[in-house]
Amino acid sequence: MEILKNYINGSWTQSSENETINVVNPANQEVLAMVPFGDKTAIDVDSAVAAAAEALKEWRETPVMRRVQPLFKLKYLLEENIDEIARLITLECGKSFAESKAEMQRAIENVETACGTPMLIQSEFSENVAPGIDEFMIRQAVGVCVCISPFNFPGMIPFWFLPYAIACGNSFIIKPSEKVPLTMMKVFELIDQLELPKGLINLVHGGKQSVDALLDNPEVKAISFVGSTNVARYIYQRGAANGKRVQAQGGAKNPVIVMPDADIEMAAKIVADSVYGCAGQRCLAASNIITVADDKGFIKEALVEAAKSKTTGFGLDAGIEMGPVITPDSKSRVEYLISKGVSEGANLLLDGRNANISGYEKGNFIKPTILENVALDGEVIKTEIFGPVMSLLHMKTIDDAIDFVNSNNYGNMACLFTSSGLNARTFRNRANAGNIGINIGVAAPMAQFPFSGWNNSFFGDLHGQGRHAIEFFTQTKVVIERWPKEWTRKF
Ligand code: NAD
Repeated sequence: MEILKNYINGSWTQSSENETINVVNPANQEVLAMVPFGDKTAIDVDSAVAAAAEALKEWRETPVMRRVQPLFKLKYLLEENIDEIARLITLECGKSFAESKAEMQRAIENVETACGTPMLIQSEFSENVAPGIDEFMIRQAVGVCVCISPFNFPGMIPFWFLPYAIACGNSFIIKPSEKVPLTMMKVFELIDQLELPKGLINLVHGGKQSVDALLDNPEVKAISFVGSTNVARYIYQRGAANGKRVQAQGGAKNPVIVMPDADIEMAAKIVADSVYGCAGQRCLAASNIITVADDKGFIKEALVEAAKSKTTGFGLDAGIEMGPVITPDSKSRVEYLISKGVSEGANLLLDGRNANISGYEKGNFIKPTILENVALDGEVIKTEIFGPVMSLLHMKTIDDAIDFVNSNNYGNMACLFTSSGLNARTFRNRANAGNIGINIGVAAPMAQFPFSGWNNSFFGDLHGQGRHAIEFFTQTKVVIERWPKEWTRKF
C-alpha cells in the first residue's frame, strides 16, 4: 500500500515519519492509501518552510503580471483534470460525483479571480498631501503562508487562499486533512507541471504535530485555517501569540426561516438540498429550519417528501445524490444526536438511522432525517450535527424567529424564504451572521466576495476569497516623499 509523499522544494519526498494512518473510502471502508501522521512530521514541516522561505526571495521581486501567468495554466489543467479530481474527492470524502465536480468548479473560479491580482493589488496615491509632498501605499508580500484544511472540501478550500497568496508574491504550504489527502496529491501533480520556482508551493502531510510545527515556525507569517470551531480558536490563539496573521474559519449551525408567503414548493426543495447536500457535511448546510405562522404545518409535508426523495449510496454510482458521512465515528455521533433530540422531546418525522445500502453494507450511511419541535434549551438545537439531519421548529412571528437566529453562537449563514421585500430587508439588516441568503439555501459567496463567517464561525478579520484575500496576503507600506527644488542637482 502506497505511503503518500510530501511535495517539498519542487520534488516528491518521502516523509521522515514512520507512523501512518489509513485513508479510507467512507462508502465501503476500503483502504485507499496510507498517510504520514505522527511526531516526526514536524521535521518535514521545517524543510518545507525552509524551501518556501528560499523561493520567496526571487518570487516577491517577480512582476505581478508574471506571477499570475502560472495561474492561467493551472486553471486549464484543473479543467482538463476535473473528472479525475472529482472522482478522488468522492472516493475519499464520500460526496456524490456531481457535488465533487461542483466543488472543483468553485476552486477554479478562485484561480480565475486571482488572475485579476494585477488590478486588485493596485494601491493608493495622494499628490500634495502637503505642499510638494506626495504619499502612497504599496502592497508587498507577507512571506511564507500556510493553509490547514478540513476534510469536507478537500479540493476547494485550499483554493480560497493559494492562488491569491501566490499572485501577491508569497510562497505557500498546504497541510491537507489527513482524512482526505489524495485530492491534493492529484492537484500537486498539476502544480508540478507549472514550472514554478522550487519551493514556491509545498505539500506536507500530518496532523496536530505538523500544524503545531507550522504555528511555531518563525518563518511562517500567515495562517489560513478552515475546520471545527475548537481547533480554529486554538489556531488563532497560538498563531497570533507567535506574531502571525491568522484567519481561522470554524464550524456552524445554520438557521433558515421560511415565511408562509414564500413559494413553499420551491423553498422545500431548496431547503432539503441545503440540509442533505454533501450528507450535511457542509459548513453552509441548513440545520435549524424555522417556520413562521399560526398554521404550523404549511411546509412540513413538502419537506418530508423532498427529504425522502434523496437517493443515498456510493457517490460514483449513477443517480446518487447523497453519500456517506466521513467515518464510522461520525456516523455514531450523528446517530447519537438524533437519539438525543428524541430524548429531549423532538418528534422523529423521518429516521435515517440503520440505513442499509445494498452492496455498501460497511459504509457510513445515514439517510435523511427530520426532527420536529426540537427542545429550544436542549443540546441538539445548538450543536453542529454535520450529518443529514434537519431540525424543524415553529415560531409565531418573524421577530421571534430573528431573535432565535441571533441567539446562535455561530454566525456562518442565515437564510430567509419569503416573497416580501420588507421581510427580506428586515432580515438581512438584523440577522447576526456573515453570509445571508434570501430565497437561497446555501449562501456560499462566489470567489469575488469574502467568505464572511461571524462569531464562533470565524476568528480573525480578513476572510478568504476576493479582495479580502488580497489584503490578507499583502502587507501595506506607506511612503511619504518630498523632492524639494533646492535639493535637485542642476545640470
Ligand atoms: P478539524 O478541525 O477536525 O480539522 C481541520 C484541520 O485541522 C485538519 O487539517 C486537521 O489535521 C487539523 N487538526 C485537527 N485537530 C487539530 C488539533 N487539535 N490541533 C491542530 N490541528 C488540528 O475539522 P474537520 O472535521 O476536518 O472539518 C469539519 C469542520 O470544518 C466542521 O466543523 C465544519 O463546519 C468546518 N468547516 C468550516 C468551514 C467554514 O468556511 N467556516 C468550511 C468547511 C468546513
